[in-house]
Amino acid sequence: MPEGGVPVVSEAHNVVTYQVPSKYYEKHPTKPHLTLEEYKIQYRESIENPDKFWGEKARELLHWDIPFRTVRNGSFEHGDISWFLEGRLNACYNCVDRHAFKDPERPAIIYEADEPSEGRVITYGELLREVCKLAFVLRQMGVRKGDTVAIYMPMIPEALVAFLAIVRIGAVHSVVFAGFSAESLRDRVLDARSKVVITTDEGKRGGKVIGTKRIVDDALKQCPEVKNVLVFRRTKSEVPWTQGRDHWWDEEVNKYPGYCPPTLMDSEDPLFLLYTSGSTGKPKGVMHTTAGYLLGAAMTGKYTFDLHPGDKMGTAGDVGWITGHTYVVYAPLLLGVSTLVFEGTPAYPDFSRYWDIIEKHGITQFYVAPTALRLLKRAGDHHINKQMKTLRVLGSVGEPIAEDVWKWYHEKVGREECHVVDTYWQTETGSHVIAPMAGVTPTKPGSATLPFFGIEPAIIDPVSKDELHGNDVEGILAIKKPWPSMARTVWASHQRFMETYLDVYKGYYYTGDGAGRDHEGYYWIRGRVDDVVNVSGHRLSTAEIEAALIHHEAVAEAAVVGIADELTGQTVNAFVSLKDGFENSSEMRKSLTLQVRKSIGPFAAPKAVYVVSDLPKTRSGKIMRRILRKILSGEEDQLGDISTLSDPSVVDAIIKTVHETS
Ligand code: ATP
Ligand code: MG
Repeated sequence: MPEGGVPVVSEAHNVVTYQVPSKYYEKHPTKPHLTLEEYKIQYRESIENPDKFWGEKARELLHWDIPFRTVRNGSFEHGDISWFLEGRLNACYNCVDRHAFKDPERPAIIYEADEPSEGRVITYGELLREVCKLAFVLRQMGVRKGDTVAIYMPMIPEALVAFLAIVRIGAVHSVVFAGFSAESLRDRVLDARSKVVITTDEGKRGGKVIGTKRIVDDALKQCPEVKNVLVFRRTKSEVPWTQGRDHWWDEEVNKYPGYCPPTLMDSEDPLFLLYTSGSTGKPKGVMHTTAGYLLGAAMTGKYTFDLHPGDKMGTAGDVGWITGHTYVVYAPLLLGVSTLVFEGTPAYPDFSRYWDIIEKHGITQFYVAPTALRLLKRAGDHHINKQMKTLRVLGSVGEPIAEDVWKWYHEKVGREECHVVDTYWQTETGSHVIAPMAGVTPTKPGSATLPFFGIEPAIIDPVSKDELHGNDVEGILAIKKPWPSMARTVWASHQRFMETYLDVYKGYYYTGDGAGRDHEGYYWIRGRVDDVVNVSGHRLSTAEIEAALIHHEAVAEAAVVGIADELTGQTVNAFVSLKDGFENSSEMRKSLTLQVRKSIGPFAAPKAVYVVSDLPKTRSGKIMRRILRKILSGEEDQLGDISTLSDPSVVDAIIKTVHETS
């Protein structure tokens, strides 16, 4: 049982371990689902006896119309992974119907609109009616079981209604983040062969208007297979219209009644396609199937976030990304709790927006990416002027979280009363694979801690390709056995799936991330394998050097890349953006270099420091180091796909800085 009392208890290997704050238990409606001892016992069971473990969990957390008989089949070698065979179920029934029948008045969606005064709450009863009407509309448009439907929508409740209506009739959703350009949308519609596109007249975000319908029109000029576009009126503006193809959502749904039966699906029928964020190359259409994915979402919602009846889950991520799929939509709805749908940005109308939302709705679990936390930390602590008494869990996802930012999150946002959970996973893993369990796992800032149930991580030596056993090892992170919520394929490109994930190290799932396992078996994600710099035989993780830079009082964000060097193999090169009030100068750059020398060692000191106003980031907020590497190697004409960048203009500014500095 974790000690309550004092948050900081033990110090070993210069790393501080944080116990679950005692206030966590005081705030709890009951108590966490497990103790640390129970986690360890159940984890062992999940590895040694997976059929029994997952069979029981699948029966407990999902509703089956026809029970499965075979828990597991297939292997990494053959690329035929399948779970819960012969079983039949419907994802929408599991997310909506079963809660709506029991408790129709329970809040399902807390919609916080871009303008703070315009939101509303949707109950499970209402959600079921909305979903059924839309399911009728889609059927009438000719959508059948197995067809793909594209969603290009802002963060409004109707986006969730669209997800659920699609899966209710056995179709497959392919959500494209509504910030992507027309070309990116076109590529994804074509690749997925989507038949229908669901969108809005416009979107609203951070006080700005986004012309979603116009972008869809542009994209569809080259998508002849799309015969129907369904348009939800968000701003009620005039938009261009293609007669016969375009339909208003409100006019269509009004034709149909508020109940239609769900279509029974096989466990392994596809549930959705989602293109990865493309930080390392061309996005892949990752395919997830029904039962295994749903179970992963429900299990991690329950255990990582310690969700309990009455909780209000506040995932700040967009439904256009896997975080939105699993933790805005599926996990909270499967567990019958309320989920926040936030349309805006953390900076609108001002930097206290997240904290206002948490206070206003009584959010209990808050989940966000480090990129947003860095922005808010930079904006200043005076914006955090709310008590946020209901908060228990503070989640982080998407990138390594620097120790500084972790501590700020814990101390300033959580007031040392909440449990910080740094969750490691990927679009392809479907749900968390390495993460603390809130209320259970002692944490160390910067470590994603211990594996989730059923996940057996392996650290592989990149040179010998052998698995490194025992603790205190560093290498490439892989996973040893299939787990229920892993992706089954890359859409229409199974060979690419095999090559990318399963053939790299035979018998393992390859994550592409570097990691260390410390003396206590805790995992430290070092970032992508390409993001390891090798200087004179020292393997340095870019994340570690970046963390050292962020420690400097002047630094807002940092990205480090390695560049080939005849003498040392590679050299360290740093790109930083400064906080307001700090100026670029040669003294500043020297002081940044010194910072790295001091905190890591002289061998890690950057050969060059470039001060830029902004770093190249994907639309999901991840730093695209690949672009920085290309620029430094003089390959700025070969940047590859930069359509996933949130602001492509930063590239030119960086090229200019590099030319001026060198
Ligand atoms: P692509 O695969 O197209 O390059 P992507 O990997 O950025 O895109 P995602 O699936 O959204 O697409 O991101 C998963 C990756 O994010 C992980 O492989 C890892 O590099 C990083 N990541 C996610 N969570 C964490 C975390 N808690 N700590 C460190 N890194 C994380
Ligand atoms: Mg990836």
